[in-house]
Amino acid sequence: MSCLPISDEASRCELVQLLTRQQFQVTAVESGVRVLELLESAEIFDVVVTDGTLSDMSAYDLLSEIRLRYGEDALGVVALDDREDRQQVVRFLRNGGSDCIQKPFLADEFISRIFQVASIQRRVQALHSIAARDYLTDIYNRRYFFQVGPRLVDQCLRRGGVTSIAILDIDHFKRLNDTYGHEVGDLVLKAVAKRLLAQVGEEHLLARLGGEEFGILFNNLNVADASSFCEDLRIDLASAKVVADDEELSVTVSIGLATIESHESFDNYLNAADQFLYMAKYAGRNRIVSELTLLNSIAS
Ligand code: GH3
Ligand code: MG
Ligand code: MG
Repeated sequence: MSCLPISDEASRCELVQLLTRQQFQVTAVESGVRVLELLESAEIFDVVVTDGTLSDMSAYDLLSEIRLRYGEDALGVVALDDREDRQQVVRFLRNGGSDCIQKPFLADEFISRIFQVASIQRRVQALHSIAARDYLTDIYNRRYFFQVGPRLVDQCLRRGGVTSIAILDIDHFKRLNDTYGHEVGDLVLKAVAKRLLAQVGEEHLLARLGGEEFGILFNNLNVADASSFCEDLRIDLASAKVVADDEELSVTVSIGLATIESHESFDNYLNAADQFLYMAKYAGRNRIVSELTLLNSIAS
């Protein structure tokens, strides 16, 4: 996928033709602002090919804005330039531009350079996606949870919302490993992750935090709503059977659930959930503990 902000219509049409003939999917636009709008609406491009000077901004300004908003790796940015000032090219490349193609250029040169940038970009994205996944269960890993979690919390709090974070820990997993072996333990971890993902989906952020522990960062759910969500998860897991080694195994989870309502470090939120998890284990496992549980127990 590529995005082509070119102000001059004739050149835009010509380049679109060149790229579509090479099986690129192209979105042609007339301004830099339009590129930013498309990216903001979650359009995904491997590469933006921009004129050196657009009607509303320079290629350098567009590049700076893209890098500021989406970082170094999100997409490639290539400028087409016919200016004599080679210092501009240096400035563009030093600020994270992927390539600068000097006009006039041969069609073959243009295509080869765009292919090169798009192919590097796809490999970078593939590596990012591998680095974000847990090798056993294929759900997100701890690294990704810590990378993305603070940003999601920040977005939620800035909108004036509150949310919640949960840690789920499989009960007596060591016993299961000792009884049935590590391989069966692995199958159980995969089955639990799959069941969790089926319920959590992409709405909330689910990750394997390590061992037999999973984290869920909820998207705008207060502790009461998150608690009933977790209760559904707990019941679903407890009632399911994992078939492994001709055995039907039951697993239960304990869940610590903490509320997020003010700016603190991401570690603090997780520590709070971890303390509630500890209480859930201490109280007998296969249950959820949050501040609501504590308030209810004081009231009764
Ligand atoms: P509790 O109910 O208190 O959580 O007890 P537990 O036995 O689940 O907890 P404990 O921390 O004592 O043991 C966790 C076990 O999880 C020990 C470790 O061998 C096992 N484990 C950690 N990672 C993996 C893994 O990737 N695969 C398998 N099969 N086991 C793992
Ligand atoms: Mg544990
Ligand atoms: Mg455990």
